[in-house]
Amino acid sequence: MATTADNDRRRFDVIVVGGGITGMCLSWFLADEGLSIACIDHGRDSGTTANAGSMHVQMQSRLVRLFPERLPAYKRTLSLYPLAVEFWNDLVQELDEDVELVFAGGLMVAEDAENLESLARKCAIENEHGITSRVVERDELLEIAPYLSERLLGAAYCEQEGKINPLKANRAIEQKALSKGVTLLRESAVDAVEPRSGGFDVMTQAGRLEADRVVLAAGVGSTPLARKLGYTIPARAEPLHMNITEPAEPIMRHLVQHGSRPITLKQLGTGHVVVGGGWPAAPGEREAPPTVLSESVVGNLRLAAEIAPRVGGLRLLRTWAGVNPLVDLLSVLGELPGSGGLFVAVPGDCGYTLGPICARLVADLMLDRPSRYPLEAFAPQRF
Ligand SMILES: Cc1cc2nc3c(=O)[nH]c(=O)nc-3n(C[C@H](O)[C@H](O)[C@H](O)COP(=O)(O)OP(=O)(O)OC[C@H]3O[C@@H](n4cnc5c(N)ncnc54)[C@H](O)[C@@H]3O)c2cc1C
Repeated sequence: MATTADNDRRRFDVIVVGGGITGMCLSWFLADEGLSIACIDHGRDSGTTANAGSMHVQMQSRLVRLFPERLPAYKRTLSLYPLAVEFWNDLVQELDEDVELVFAGGLMVAEDAENLESLARKCAIENEHGITSRVVERDELLEIAPYLSERLLGAAYCEQEGKINPLKANRAIEQKALSKGVTLLRESAVDAVEPRSGGFDVMTQAGRLEADRVVLAAGVGSTPLARKLGYTIPARAEPLHMNITEPAEPIMRHLVQHGSRPITLKQLGTGHVVVGGGWPAAPGEREAPPTVLSESVVGNLRLAAEIAPRVGGLRLLRTWAGVNPLVDLLSVLGELPGSGGLFVAVPGDCGYTLGPICARLVADLMLDRPSRYPLEAFAPQRF
């Protein structure tokens, strides 16, 4: 087990289980208020270490297909996404490293008239919820993004979208949490959280720790821990595929995705083009990490080259797979009922975009501060 602070300490005000983007931000925010915090992370392959660095604001067509029954609730909570990117913008001002956060806008492209019409309906819904998206047709699209294929009919354009370098951001946020006094225990799994009078025992591979309150911010790892206490958090692991190309001269400024096919495309400040967007990876056996599927490599890159032909001329540098925590479109944020201080912080889809704001919302709840967003739709009681 690797630790980055006092290993002898056994008792904390709050123990945060999971040191991904959500757990690390939450640990930082609570430590900033003078609370003693331990953040414990198993080091499993997670979305935080695998993600593509897209700052999403537009509705994801993939999700609408997966969870049609959750659509009304998803629509009502769309306004969390603009708040999430604004929050990221403020957050990076506090970091000691440039994490390449850029809001150059996002384009969700369409290849046929039916798809473009559905994007227009999508923009109308988004506009009711604080998202400033609009449809642009081919001529305007190619003016905004001349690197895109002339085959495209148009796109939904959202200026609020952007991109970040997640490797740099994860490192800078961890440094910030440590500088606030967070005790970080890495490569240490939490096996169980057990209530006791006035607090909790947290059973880890490194022994028993104690805390007044505990937060499950462990993505899919939150589900079995909650289940042991009789609670349901139906987060399941969605193994997803990613690619990155060799560095190239500046080709694209925007975050590009497709209105009906799985892809996200963006170029980092380093010149590398990151290609992902929901192609599957093979699930690992038991706790083994997911593995890359050759069909996903070929399919994802072929689609990238169809949309942005210059990307097709780049060499592939690396592929990888990671686990996306998938719940029911919506975040799970709040205290488990009757638990006496056991909280959940699992962001909804596009969880890297949502992680910091979700951490802030749960921190405010724990600190008895007024919430900057209504939490009812995210309450864990809904399951
Ligand atoms: C390939 C891929 C690309 C993605 N791209 C994007 C994107 O571009 N934009 C976007 O917004 N979102 C993206 N996502 C989704 C996003 O990465 C996740 O939703 C987000 O990382 C969730 O953060 P989290 O901290 O809540 O959970 P996680 O990142 O899953 O972190 C949970 C942590 O908990 C730890 N843990 C689990 N169980 C235990 C336990 N029992 N004890 C101790 N520790 C435990 C794990 O080791 C892990 O580090 C992507 C996901 C994947 C897989």
